[in-house]
Amino acid sequence: MSQVRVRYAPSPTGYLHVGGLRTALYNYLYARKNGGVFVLRIEDTDQERQVEGAVDAMIEALRWSGLEFDEGPGKEGECGPYVQSERLALYHAAAERLLQSGHAYRCYRTPEELEELRRRHEAAKTATRLDVRMPAEEAEQRAIAGAPSVIRLRVPDGETIQFHDLVRGEVSIESDLVDDQVLVKSDGFPTYHLANVVDDYGMGITHVIRGEEWVSSTPKHVLLYRFLGFPQPEFAHLPLLLNPDRSKLSKRHGDVAVESYREKGYLAEALLNYVAFLGWNPGDERELFTLEELIGEFSLARVNKSGAIFNREKLDWYNAIYLRQRPAPRILDELRPLLAGKGWDGFPEDYLLAGIELMRERVSFVHDYLDNAPWLFEDPESYDEETVKKRWKADSPGRLREARGVIAQRPWTVSELEAGYHEIAEANAVGIGQFIHPTRLAVSGMGKGPGLYELLELLGRETCLRRIDRALSTLG
Ligand code: GLU
Repeated sequence: MSQVRVRYAPSPTGYLHVGGLRTALYNYLYARKNGGVFVLRIEDTDQERQVEGAVDAMIEALRWSGLEFDEGPGKEGECGPYVQSERLALYHAAAERLLQSGHAYRCYRTPEELEELRRRHEAAKTATRLDVRMPAEEAEQRAIAGAPSVIRLRVPDGETIQFHDLVRGEVSIESDLVDDQVLVKSDGFPTYHLANVVDDYGMGITHVIRGEEWVSSTPKHVLLYRFLGFPQPEFAHLPLLLNPDRSKLSKRHGDVAVESYREKGYLAEALLNYVAFLGWNPGDERELFTLEELIGEFSLARVNKSGAIFNREKLDWYNAIYLRQRPAPRILDELRPLLAGKGWDGFPEDYLLAGIELMRERVSFVHDYLDNAPWLFEDPESYDEETVKKRWKADSPGRLREARGVIAQRPWTVSELEAGYHEIAEANAVGIGQFIHPTRLAVSGMGKGPGLYELLELLGRETCLRRIDRALSTLG
């Protein structure tokens, strides 16, 4: 058996879509699992849809997610170049062969004529192909007159076009329903269909793994493989990604760009693990997989046909799990720029690492350290209103003063602080919460947080006393 070669073939129209990440991931997994090669090919033949810098951004997003390609732009293999706009001669040669063999023809129809043909076709309410062909003499006359033309595929009549899909099984369509696809536009650029087939052949691609939106194009590709005398690769079309309301996942419904998830603080491992499950599962209850583990488990046989719903809460769940597993120094690397952005610099590394540990079970994102524990970095300027209403009673100032005594005098360890709080609670014959709640509010400004004694110990005596005094004067 020849070596597996797969490709991810994005059009650089702006950013890496999460659906694109899923396609790239499945191709990557299939390649790695089968000792194959993962190719990145840039499909940039639609000149009108080009976006400056999009290729670099896409490569960067793939790099960030950990999906390293084996051949592609900047990583030349034997089948390069890997950018379609640098391969135009190949498409022209293929188009010429199709013209020669009669499987393609030059079409001189003007946009107005096409419009009119389409209008009539629609009015006739028929599913059969829009017939744009014209008598040979007329085409010849237009050619002589120098009329602009495109090259179209001559789809045969009365044939059933069939192919096997590794996800969907047998797919077939009547050729009479397939339009004479434009292969080369009047500007000389090939369309997706021609370039895609020429390149999948030229790059030795054995398995075409791509989104379901391309399944209706595949019959045209099947014809092209046949007419060009190229062996046909295997096809696997991945299920659509849907919003929770089952509409197609699109930018209008929120974020679909990998880059924007990255900016929001999602971790690559979490996004990949989540995306892996959009259309695939291991067949049991397991949900957590590293990229290595996914390679071991992945198979196209376990890819579903039905659409996969993109569920943000589940993604957040993955993020929390992966963040909580991350070693503190790595979290700190990502936290530092956020702290600098707030002007919260100059904290000793030990302090920051201990703060990260203290909050570990209470964060889902790196920025939660700032949002959920600002008291690690600055004195509270205000106090959570709900908590004040609920917990700051007439006797709270007195209780806080007593707690202040413990904080001012006891040796500075968690167990000493704890013992001190127990003593004052017992002495006053009240629950320990009477002291804990006002202290937490005073030192953190919040009603919730990690264990109070650990929190006090980390902040240090001086800071705690300063914050308590301020609370006493502010809250009264
Ligand atoms: N350039 C197409 C895209 O942007 C690739 C489709 C395919 O993989 O054949 O999705």
